[in-house]
This record gives sequence, C-alpha cells and structure tokens, in this order.
Amino acid sequence: MSAPKKPNLDSVTTINEDGSRYFLHPADAKGPWMLARRMAGVILIAIYILLPWIPINGNPAVFLDVENRMFHLFGLTLVPQDLWVMFFAISGLGFGLFFITSLLGRVWCGWACPYTVFLDHVYRRIERWIEGDAPARRALDAAPWSAGKFCKRAAKHLLYVAIAALIAHVFLSYFVSLRRLYGFMHEGPLQHATSFGIVVFLTLVLWFCFGYFREQFCIIMCPYGRLQSALTDDDTINVGYDATRGEPRGAKGRAEGDCIDCRRCVQVCPTGIDIRNGLQLECIGCTACIDACDEIMMRIDRPKGLIRYDSFNGFAGIKRRFLRPRIYAYCALAALGLGALTLVASKKARPFNAIVSRVGGAGFYSDAFSVRNIYKVRFMNKRNQTATVTIRLGGETPPGYQLSGAEQTFTVNALDEMSRTCVVVAPAGSYTGVSDIVLEVHANPGDVILKKTVRFLGPNPQSLNTPNP
Ligand code: SF4
Ligand code: SF4
Repeated sequence: MSAPKKPNLDSVTTINEDGSRYFLHPADAKGPWMLARRMAGVILIAIYILLPWIPINGNPAVFLDVENRMFHLFGLTLVPQDLWVMFFAISGLGFGLFFITSLLGRVWCGWACPYTVFLDHVYRRIERWIEGDAPARRALDAAPWSAGKFCKRAAKHLLYVAIAALIAHVFLSYFVSLRRLYGFMHEGPLQHATSFGIVVFLTLVLWFCFGYFREQFCIIMCPYGRLQSALTDDDTINVGYDATRGEPRGAKGRAEGDCIDCRRCVQVCPTGIDIRNGLQLECIGCTACIDACDEIMMRIDRPKGLIRYDSFNGFAGIKRRFLRPRIYAYCALAALGLGALTLVASKKARPFNAIVSRVGGAGFYSDAFSVRNIYKVRFMNKRNQTATVTIRLGGETPPGYQLSGAEQTFTVNALDEMSRTCVVVAPAGSYTGVSDIVLEVHANPGDVILKKTVRFLGPNPQSLNTPNP
C-alpha cells in the first residue's frame, strides 16, 4: 500500500499525472467544529425530509404543484402569472449568498450545501461504518478481490442506492405531494412511467455522485466555487493557516514555528489539499483541518488556532475590517430583493383572492326608477378545500342600494376559481350621484372577508325622473 499523495499547488491532488483518478480517504476529524457541522447537517436533512409532511393552508409547506401549475411556499400560493415574484426571490437569495460569501467565505459549501451535507453526514458515515477508518479503507482499496471485500463493497453500495432512492422519492414529493407519491408507488411504475423514470434517473445520479464522483463535483463542476475569488477579498473570513505562527515548521523542539509538520490537517481534508499552502479553490471550508490541528496543538501544549477562521489581514496581523463597501452593497441588494419579496408575499399570502371589475359595455343603465351598475367578481380559492362564497354590499355603501338577486352564495372547488356577475341597483330615491360602493366577498371556512371598493356610475341625479311617493 503506497503512502498518501502529497498535495501541491501545481496540480489537483485527486487527478494523477496520467489523468486517472486518485481516490481520497480522508481521516476522521473530531472536535467542536465538526460536532457543530454535524448538528447543522442533521437539522438540514430533517428539514428536507419533513417539509413535504407539514401542511399549511391544506398544502405541503413547500409544494411545486406541477400538475395544477401552482407553487405553494409556506402558505403563499403563486400561479404562473406571479412568476415575476421569482425575480425578487432569486435576486434576494443570490445577493444574500454573495453577502455571506464576502463576509464568511465558503461557509455555505462547508455547512449548508445539500451536496456536502449528504456526502459528509450520510455517505461518508456509512463508508466509515462498513469499511473502517482511513487506513483500513486504503488497505481495502489496495487488497485483491476476496469474499470479504466483495461483501463490504456490496453492502456499502446497496445502502448507497437505498439512500439515493429515498432522497429521490422525497425530491419528487416536492412536485407531486406525498399523498400522490404514495398513490404512484401503490399503482406501480407502469402507471406512472415518467415519475418512475425521474426517480430512477435521480437515484442513479446521486449514487454516482456520492459513491464515486464525490469531491470532484465541488472541484470541477460547481460554479459557485469558481465565483469565490470574485466575491472575497483580504478581509473575508476563511479557514486558513497562520504561517507567521506556524513557520518554520518541523519536529517539536527542532523548529521555531508551532507547526510540527505532522500532516494531520492534510489527512483529514476531504478535497486532498494542504491548507498550509494558502487558500485554494478546492477548499470547501469544512473545518476538519481546524479540529485536527487544534487536537495536535493541545497534545504539544501549544495554543489552539494555528488553523482557524480568520481573514488574510487577520493572519498578517493587519487590522480586520468586517464592514466594507462590498458588504454594504451586497447587503443592500439582498435586502431590496427579500424586502420586496416579503411585501409581495404578505399581499399574496391570503388563502382566497377576489377581483372585482366592471362588465364591459355601458358604464351604467338607468331609467326613471333606478340606476344599475354591473360588475364581475372573480374569486380564487387557493386552499385545498372547497370554499363557500357569499357576495354582499358593505356597510360603507350609500343606504338604499341593493344587490340584485339578494345575497349570492356559491361554492368554489379547492384550488379553483369562479366568476359571478353582480348587479347593484340604486333606486331613484336613494341615488345621490356617482359614488364609491363596497362589495364584500365572504368566504368560508374561516369567514374571511375580502372588501373591494368600486365606483358606482350613473347620470346626474337631477336628470332622473324621480317618481312621486
Ligand atoms: S495539523 Fe497543524 S501542526 Fe500538523 S501539519 Fe497541520 S498545521 Fe502543522
Ligand atoms: S483545507 Fe481544511 S477547511 Fe478546506 S476543505 Fe480541507 S479540511 Fe476542509
């Protein structure tokens, strides 16, 4: 078994000189940072699995209802006409990520990216559990095929596939809901070939990525890593090595620096780099090297933090600046996008909506006895249950005005809409001229009242031939 490869700045550790893949077997790192990351990972995985189970307004908390072309997001329902809202959502979240990156480097990659979360906290744990620690895994790799090796590899990949299938099923439930997914599974793949094909494809992609491709995705494919150098500066907080304190490196007592060149930080790195060579594109900010080095520092009775979160300026002993022009700019742009999104969402989060418009043609109809205006009420039921709707005239309407046909009550199916024509009549004795009237739309369940103020048009009251009492 050959010794682990020594990283350098001229090549990618995971690619051999002949272009073949060099498989990494990162050692286990234990410490407060790894514990905090693991807890964050468990919480994020729980959120991913639980979101489709949590109902809000009769729909899953996050539900991209492809069939009905609706997007339910924590009680907010968006239809295709609301696509413009996505502009605020995407720009707000995008600038939010820029803001976090300029402030804290690749904290997203190390702590919250779904790829890292599943790879580090699920797939690498399974591998560790079945094949042992890093030296044992390296030895198994180098060993010839035997019954033992076959069984370990088969068990590992079976579990990999099972978990990939689970992730793929949860992913599909975000688009079809859990209830329908359960129905699909009962009715069989032939009845739902497209959905089945998506799940199979996703399962295979996830198995390939987590079982084989691994850190290559972050190093070669992820565009976010490439953006890093454009978003960060000398004041950005990153995982780094304090060369001033660590160098010259060497065995304890034989060099002046604190780094004893034990290479523990290299052994635990999941992307195979040596952080002592400086910040590199491959670093995903996973903090494994911080915990690994702190453990060594404690053993040799030196202060922790030779590898730590700090900025270039911090490591160089220059005054740190957290707040800088780019931070203000990204923060303002993110706040603008997310603020606009919140404002729009607060208006759209209602379970029902109603639009009142005037029916085309003449603005009003009148004769000697009355003036009439005709309106169309379009009611949208965003809930997952039938709504009973009643249209009434609001108290703010001038006295004596009537809604022809009295109160109109009708039912609107779940996630459906319906239009009704309403004729508002002002008897000649009550009519005082053009004014505002209020149409109230009462919707059950919940007795939600939507008030719509509309203009009531008519002729000059003097021109009406008011009949004598
Ligand atoms: S773990 Fe710390 S002491 Fe060991 S090589 Fe890395 S930086 Fe040096
Ligand atoms: S250098 Fe450290 S923080 Fe960066 S990926 Fe390697 S172990 Fe993680």
